Amino acid sequence: MKKWVFFFGAGKAEGNGEWRDLLGGKGAGLAEMTRIGLPVPAGFTISTEACDYFYKNGKKYPAELKKQVAANVAHLEKVTKKKLGDPKNPLLVSVRSGSARSMPGMMETILNLGLNDKSVQGLAAVTKNERFAYDAYRRFVQMYSTVVMEMSKEDLEHRLRGLKERLGVKEDTAVSAAGWKELVAEYKELFKQKTGKDFPDDPIDQLWGAIGAVFGSWMAEKAVTYRRVEKITGLLGTAVNVVQMVFGNTGDTSGTGVCFTRNPSSGDKEFYGDYLINAQGEDVVAGIRTPMPLREMAKRTPKVYAQLEKVRVKLEKHYRDMQDMEFTVEDGTLYMLQTRTGKRTPAAAFKIAVDMANEKLISKEEAIQRIKPEDVERLFYPVIDAKVDRKTLESRILTHGIDAVPGAAVGKVIFSAQEAEAWAARGEKVILVRRETSPEDVGGMAVAQGILTATGGKTSHAAVVARGWGKCCVVGAESLSIDYKSRTMTSKGKTVKEGEWITLDGSQGVVYTGDMPLVTPKFPDAYETLMKWADATKRIGVRTNADTPQDARKAREFGAEGIGLCRTEHMFFTDFEHPEKSHERQRAIQEMILAETKEARVKALDRLLPFQRRDFVGLFQAMDGFPVTIRLLDPPLHEFVPHERAKQEELAKELKIDVETVIRRVEQLHEANPMLGHRGCRLCITYPEILEMQVRAIIEAAIECVRGRVKVIPEIMHPLTLDRKEYQILDQATRRIADDLIKKAGVKLHYLVGTMIELPRAALLADEIAELAEFFSFGTNDLTQTVMGLSRDDAGRFLPDYVDEKKAGVFAADPFQSLDTKGVGTLIRWGIERGRKTRPHLEVGICGEHGGDAESVKFCHAVHMDYVSASPFRVPIARLAAAQAVVEEKLEKKKKRK
Ligand code: PEP
Ligand code: MG
Repeated sequence: MKKWVFFFGAGKAEGNGEWRDLLGGKGAGLAEMTRIGLPVPAGFTISTEACDYFYKNGKKYPAELKKQVAANVAHLEKVTKKKLGDPKNPLLVSVRSGSARSMPGMMETILNLGLNDKSVQGLAAVTKNERFAYDAYRRFVQMYSTVVMEMSKEDLEHRLRGLKERLGVKEDTAVSAAGWKELVAEYKELFKQKTGKDFPDDPIDQLWGAIGAVFGSWMAEKAVTYRRVEKITGLLGTAVNVVQMVFGNTGDTSGTGVCFTRNPSSGDKEFYGDYLINAQGEDVVAGIRTPMPLREMAKRTPKVYAQLEKVRVKLEKHYRDMQDMEFTVEDGTLYMLQTRTGKRTPAAAFKIAVDMANEKLISKEEAIQRIKPEDVERLFYPVIDAKVDRKTLESRILTHGIDAVPGAAVGKVIFSAQEAEAWAARGEKVILVRRETSPEDVGGMAVAQGILTATGGKTSHAAVVARGWGKCCVVGAESLSIDYKSRTMTSKGKTVKEGEWITLDGSQGVVYTGDMPLVTPKFPDAYETLMKWADATKRIGVRTNADTPQDARKAREFGAEGIGLCRTEHMFFTDFEHPEKSHERQRAIQEMILAETKEARVKALDRLLPFQRRDFVGLFQAMDGFPVTIRLLDPPLHEFVPHERAKQEELAKELKIDVETVIRRVEQLHEANPMLGHRGCRLCITYPEILEMQVRAIIEAAIECVRGRVKVIPEIMHPLTLDRKEYQILDQATRRIADDLIKKAGVKLHYLVGTMIELPRAALLADEIAELAEFFSFGTNDLTQTVMGLSRDDAGRFLPDYVDEKKAGVFAADPFQSLDTKGVGTLIRWGIERGRKTRPHLEVGICGEHGGDAESVKFCHAVHMDYVSASPFRVPIARLAAAQAVVEEKLEKKKKRK
């Protein structure tokens, strides 16, 4: 017979701390604490498998469950020497939820179960406290009515207020036993009115009602939303913990508290927590009374504190991690009600991991495993101050979008990039809001505090550019309607005008009206220590995607070991070091695109050459001996030319050509599907002079550096190649120009020529391409797009449904964010294997956005890439993930050997 229920009590438990999946975190913690001899009230846990069964079978319980629950109730009665419903000395229980992953406050709890008109008298007699007993009773009826029968909380609260008014008292504590008795009667009457049934007196009926409510709360709206936001997937459901009640509110020798074995904010090794005398758990949570810090408790009740301190030491040693515990003291005796791994701030996560490794409580490898990608991410970015309460936040929500770049940003709304630059020049903080962004907007994006777009996904232009700068960005806010003419945006009835303040939360993808206070986390010393350990552990390299010398320098500070992708087209719009020259750059590239003859094109390219050469020198210098991979031009050409009449006229005037020519050329450049159009290396096939200029700029810059004694390793990369024949044309041209320049200069300079693998065809034919290409860099943004047939710019519209468990739930994660290892990954494996068959030392990397995603980095490690390349702010995440991959691989091997 399948076992659905697991007992714990009197020093023994049927489960243990490792059974989190089956017993939930709380159930596993109670079982483990019982096993190691801590004072835990007895009880039993109904497994998460029962919850899973419940939902898979039309909300029916497994056939054996009734019997097993009855047997466990009997066992509990035996251990506690009390009986449910006993009019003399009743057993009371709490019924609590608890899944394998903590979901604080999202599911239901019922306390004091087992009380009825008779057993309440027993409780009053045993505790010699009638007031306490009837208070417990009314709390139970209140909780049962709202939680199990879903009656309105307000209806019941209203009656409580009425009672207090009648009695002329303000505080609950001033209500007498008679008062509570009266309220219980009123509640029960209301119960009958609303449900048409009598309030259940039989404790077993009460118990089943509570079990049903806990299971039901698993799929309640707030729990489902929480799981979606926290990306919690793959759980069976919630367990139900039925535990003997202990009371912290029987008088001044009782109380209840919450504590952490170390400080969860700073990570310092100090016992940290709150204690509330004469109170039940929910009083602490409700925040009506101010609890005392543990220091104070140590003075007031030294004996109980000493017991608690012992538990702290034992639990931390046992779990080898910081614990978050709940406890109750009943008449001077300590009971542990819960222990779980304590949530902590990112700074504390680093401090605790490093301290514990130094204390030899855990190994350095375990310390590396303890850090989550979010911990790293949240160290760098400002966040909305936790002091802003939930209600304020909720009332200010303007819209939801896709969380493209984390952190938070506050600024005044501006709807055009030019305006944004003008406002920022005046010292204003701005948020650039666009339907979508294009390279033309880069200047405005650069000066904005944050970026918000109504369309797009995680690899759309705005997301990619903003990520490179670590700039908060929310994209795909579909409910947002932007009116550029009236300079307003509207969502769900709320309108925001140009110049009004908004706040972006790029970590959650939420946009708020108004300006919220932000805080920037401090960098803990432990960060440097832990990252050193990570670097010493990892096998693959971590490079960065950087387009400017500034980005490159930033990335070096974050630990990048080279550039894996420089998108040269991003250099054509904004001159970051000399902003006054941005316009000249833009005009030169536009002139090149509009040119109708080769001569005209070459003339324009000649103007671009010095800009590019200077940029490349900056990149080489910043990387000082680390490899620098420079990709030749890869934009859809139409992105570079203006589409509005006024701007076309302005351009025509400046270039001294007639506007009709500009319009004609723009029309010619129009493509029905630019993502699959005239882009990537196709540009250099049709316009070899572009390749000529770019290769010249790279090699001349490298020569300049060599002469200046800067070590350089240029890697020239061709984007979107299709096959060997196409690649050969590019490869030969590149080498011819480069070798010629090097020879003329008379310097020693080694460079590589290689290609991105962004198309299925290139991956399939990798063995042929590798005959010529010295390296591969997987461009997984385009490769995901082309393998899946999902547009990276448009998929944001429907992808959320694809990852939503309650909707389609086709993908576990957005494939543009976390690599689709099953599909795209298969092609990558194939490409690497085939490529290395022809060229065993083929250098292989990844430079799509996945290079900064922890799970994807682990995949890259597993398929033996040489490096990953991530935007500067994600370099630390990649370093850590690369180290974690090694540790996980070791653990996996160990497991297999066993
Ligand atoms: C890619 O496609 O993965 C890539 C890095 O190139 P881009 O994002 O510039 O198309
Ligand atoms: Mg690409």
